[in-house]
This record gives sequence, structure tokens and C-alpha cells, in this order.
Amino acid sequence: MKQKLSVLSTIAVATALTAQVAIGWAATPTKLDADIVIKNGQVLTMNEQKDVYSQGTVVVKDNKIIAVGDDKVAAQYNAKKVIDAGGDIVMPGMINTHNHVPMVAFRSIGEEGVGNRLFDVFFPLEEKLLSRDLIYTASVHGAIEMAKGGVTTYADMYYHEDEIAKATEKVGIRGVLAESVISFPVVDAKEPYGGIKYAEDYIKKYKDSELITPAVAPHAPYTVSPEKIKETKALADKYKVPFIIHAAEFADEAERVEKKFGVKSESVISYLDSLGVLDENTILAHAIHLSDKDISIIKERNAKIAHNPIANTKGATGVSPAIKMDQVGIDIGLGTDGPMSSNTMDVFGTMGYAARVHKLVNKDQSLMPPSKAVELATIGGAKVLGMDDKIGSLETGKLADIIIVDVHAPNTFPSYDPYATITYAAGPQNVTDVIVNGKMIVEANELKTYDYAKDLKDMEVIYEKVSQVEKTLPYHQKKEAE
Ligand SMILES: [Zn+2]
Repeated sequence: MKQKLSVLSTIAVATALTAQVAIGWAATPTKLDADIVIKNGQVLTMNEQKDVYSQGTVVVKDNKIIAVGDDKVAAQYNAKKVIDAGGDIVMPGMINTHNHVPMVAFRSIGEEGVGNRLFDVFFPLEEKLLSRDLIYTASVHGAIEMAKGGVTTYADMYYHEDEIAKATEKVGIRGVLAESVISFPVVDAKEPYGGIKYAEDYIKKYKDSELITPAVAPHAPYTVSPEKIKETKALADKYKVPFIIHAAEFADEAERVEKKFGVKSESVISYLDSLGVLDENTILAHAIHLSDKDISIIKERNAKIAHNPIANTKGATGVSPAIKMDQVGIDIGLGTDGPMSSNTMDVFGTMGYAARVHKLVNKDQSLMPPSKAVELATIGGAKVLGMDDKIGSLETGKLADIIIVDVHAPNTFPSYDPYATITYAAGPQNVTDVIVNGKMIVEANELKTYDYAKDLKDMEVIYEKVSQVEKTLPYHQKKEAE
């Protein structure tokens, strides 16, 4: 029996101990008040020791977890709501460390017969179609997909990030949402690099939000000048917010930087290091093309990695040396990347894919075991986002971000090893309940915070518009001419 009352926050410890004494001495045990008790679950705590309770309990009061333990813990509480997990898996909400959520509006476009999907399809579509309204509506839709799929926190980089923040709050999940900075005019900034000013206003507005962590993101080393990368980092430092950048996604980024900005460097990582922008608040998305020296720089600076194996495979950009980075102790989380790249925001699929692809490329079945994949999708992601003191594991005192995964479905039963079930068998459709910040967001498979029929109706309007514009893109003529 492992009762996890030893790490309770002080008030909870005192109360819990008093209650235990009361249970021992009084004829009628005094029960403690709670808002939600989840009982009879296989609880994957994802704490430091990776404790698992096969008949476990998680107790929530207000927005926090106040107790985690075995079946005896459930009996100590008087809860407004009791959820009998019926043997299903209870685990921390999953964390998607890299996304461009509004791009869900363009899901499944330009998948065949296109030279460069980013330049021939997405940049032109974005130029013609992006608006505050599209960004908000698509973000609601994407947040719904994530919430229903057990993702309780995600990191994003896009434009009008305040609209994405509004949408994320509406659906009720957490977001580390970074306003993008790029060298050409975009929907929310007429001037090149206008994102810096936009970001500052947005950061000020959302600095104290409960669910939203504002952040800032220069798009990539080859689309943002060295001066502006430094200026963006200074802004992130000023407000102590995360700094996110695509890096080492392509093999030739150092050459692109040299060609565009005239700065010669050994690698794009050493280039970023020379700008002084790598530290524990920096999240590098992709980090595929790395030398051993690059890995040691990342480790030394304590920069974090958002690993997007599905998007990288589909985009044929390569396989990140995530295993090597993990072995030297670099913090890594999993990301889906935008839904134009990976087509879904499914973190189950990403776990399963990460677990498989590293075995394959290294020809070693022992690499990335299921417990490691689940770690990357939970506490690993929390470390990447600098939020591991608040989320990523089920521990007393942490914020109550909890999901329940059905292990009695056709695709999940039987389940002898919960980590293997989560990594290789389960999918978003198996998430029955989702709690974020102590609030039920999904209950018995049903989204409680937003009317999906309304979302779908709004998205159909966007779908019609996008379909019309997409037909006019020059790549269609190019295809016909071939
Ligand atoms: Zn990306």
C-alpha cells in the first residue's frame, strides 16, 4: 500500500492527518469535503517513481488534487461528485507541446501533386483567408478535438493568438499560446515583424489568466532576422514567458540563414546559441538535424524540445534524435504540429508513433518503451512548457487536470499493462472523462463546455469559403499543365 499523503501541501496534510486520527478514535469517522472523488481506477500517477494504483483514488477540491492513493482514500472523503472509474485508466491530462491550431481549417488540402505544400498551398491560403473570425472559429474546433481526445494543455504558435486564447478558454483547456513573429506582413501585422508589438499587448492582457500562458514565437531562424530573434527573446525575458521557435526542422537551415541574413555558422543550433536565445524558457520545435555538439549545447543551455514524429515523417523532414537527447537528460515533450502537417491533434497516436519510429530507425525494440512514451506525453511535456510544478502528474497539490481512458472498449480490452494500452491501443475516442482545473470538461464522452452542433455549423461556413479559394490556387494550373 502506498498512500501518497506524505507530499500533501501543508493545510491538506494537517487536515488529512487530523482526519486519520479521527478515523482511528471516533465511532463515526469525520469525512473530509471534496468536490470530485474518482474511485476504482487504475491510477497512473506519472510522479517521479511512476506509482500506479491498481484500485486507485484521485480526490479534487476546487481546482487542485488534494489526495491520490488506493481504494481506502476514497472512503475518507465526502464528495459532491463521485466518479466510479470501473477499472478504467485514470491519468494526467495529456500535453501537446507543438501546434498551430487554426490550421485545422485547412486539414486535408494539397496532399497530392504539390511541390512545396507550405509555399504553394498554405502561405497563399493564409494570405487570402485568414481573419480574426476564422482563427477564433477554427481554434474552438481544434480545442474541442483536443479536449475530447484527452489533451488538457497545448502549446501553439500562430497569429491573433488572443483569439486562440479566447477559444481555448471557452472550451476550457489550458494553452501556452505564442504570438508569431515573421519577416513578412501577416493577418495581424501589416509591417514585417509586427508580431513583436502585437505580442507585447497580448502578453499584458493574458499574463494573469488561469488557463492561458501567453508566449512569443519567432517563426524560424530562416524567416526572422538575427536582430529580431534577439528582440523577441528580450520581450519573452521581460515578461518571463516561454519563447518558442521552429529549429533544425530542415537540414539546410544554417545555409538558409547565411543566404538570407549573411551570418555564417556551424549549425542552426550554434547560430541560435550565438544570439544568446537558448535557455530553460526556450522551446525548440522539431530539433531533427542535430550534431552531437548541438545536443550538448541544448543540454548545457537547458533548452526544451517539442518532438513531432508524425508531422516530421509525413513531411519527410527526418527523425529527431529524441532518444539521444533523452539519454543526456534534455526535457522532451510530444507535439502533433499543426493539423495541416499531421492532420489530427491526437496525442495517443503521437505516443504510439514515437514509440515505434525510434525502435525502427535505431533497430532496437527496447527503445522508447510505453512508460517512456506516456511520460513524454504528460510530465515530460509539462517540463518542456515550464509547468511541471503545476501539471503533468497526479500528485497532491497539483492542478486537477485528469482524464479517464476506457479500457473496456473493443480496441482496448484486455489491458494487462496500462502503459502499453495507452501507447499502442487506445485512441482519442476512448477518453470518457476530462477534468481541467477541477472542472468537468468532458463527462461520459460528452463535451460539457461547448455545443458541438454550433461548432460544426460555424466550421461548415469556413469549409465552403476555403473550398472556393483553394480551387483558385496556382498549383492546380501547374498540376494540369504537367
Ligand atoms: Zn510547427
